Amino acid sequence: MGSSSSSDTPANDAPDLFRNESDALEKARAIHAHADADPQQCRVALAELIGHFERLMRETRRLIGRSDRAEREMHALTQQLQYRATHDALTDVLNRSAVIERTIKALRVDRAVMILLDIDEFKKVNDDFGHPVGDAVILGIVACLRRIVGERGAIGRVGGEEFTVLLPGYDLADALQLADEMRAAIGNHVFDAPVNRRITASFGVSANPARTDFDTAYGLADSALYKAKRGGRNRVEFADPQWVSAEMPGGD
Ligand code: GH3
Ligand code: MG
Ligand code: MG
Repeated sequence: MGSSSSSDTPANDAPDLFRNESDALEKARAIHAHADADPQQCRVALAELIGHFERLMRETRRLIGRSDRAEREMHALTQQLQYRATHDALTDVLNRSAVIERTIKALRVDRAVMILLDIDEFKKVNDDFGHPVGDAVILGIVACLRRIVGERGAIGRVGGEEFTVLLPGYDLADALQLADEMRAAIGNHVFDAPVNRRITASFGVSANPARTDFDTAYGLADSALYKAKRGGRNRVEFADPQWVSAEMPGGD
């Protein structure tokens, strides 16, 4: 076990410095009392005392610097942990729990659109080209989403190959246009992987008034996504509380 006499840091003389503190003060009093009697001895004693306080100040500054550094390191570490707790490790987009939190927060104050997308026949991509190629396809799709969405919304990964785009304040018409841009971008994307077939995704969109809960917003988007899959994939469908039964025309 470590003891106070360990010599692994240059700060080891610090306790002695501080222990000598009361002696030093005694000396200061004595010098003051005998200043007239022996000026020479007084000067020597004063020089010693000044040296002592200088060492004390240096040591104090060093300790303050060390604790500032520790605080900065702790802050950086906390931020890293917080980032990892809220982001997906493969793609760096929001993870599922962060998507839930963001959606609840956005819908507390305003309407918001949730776009849910799922890669079409992705199992075959993994089966035919291997899991690493599948991962590269996921990364390519996220790159497409980032390019189209920019700062307008928050992208999240809510399942293996299922993503959400949360668009706070958006109305249905603008969101459908954006979803269709994403769909087209994915369909035309040249993937950074040896995958010799067209990759597409299907989209379900829900437009939610303020104070809608997460399960409702997600459930509506999911039912629209299901409709897009059933309708032949590579399509955008929507479910709006007011227009649940309406359908978007499909297209390429
Ligand atoms: P559908 O068009 O109906 O969505 O068909 P699908 O083949 O995409 O069906 P499904 O959603 O059932 O398949 C998802 C597949 O995604 C299964 C799983 O192995 C794969 N997957 C999930 N997460 C990952 C991942 O992180 N990397 C890779 N490479 N594959 C993943
Ligand atoms: Mg899926
Ligand atoms: Mg799929």
